[in-house]
Amino acid sequence: MSQGSHRKLFITCQEATYLISKDEVWATGLLDKLKLAVHLMICEFCRRFSKQTKIIERQARHLTPEARLSEEEKGLMEEAIKTKENGLQ
Ligand SMILES: [Zn+2]
Repeated sequence: MSQGSHRKLFITCQEATYLISKDEVWATGLLDKLKLAVHLMICEFCRRFSKQTKIIERQARHLTPEARLSEEEKGLMEEAIKTKENGLQ
């Protein structure tokens, strides 16, 4: 077993925060995911950073159209869509 590859599992905070902010890592890069998981186990700072990033992501998701709208907002949106459609025809 080579020591080099073992050592590569331990990444710096800089690398960890890069992996956290680069969200494709959760869809791809199993090794990156593992490295990040190992780092998060030993580093409280990056754990907090990761948590904050997830909260921001969750909040950002609320801004998408899938978020729940009130009946009034729905009505206004439908009106706006109708107006737009009529304008195009
Ligand atoms: Zn760290």
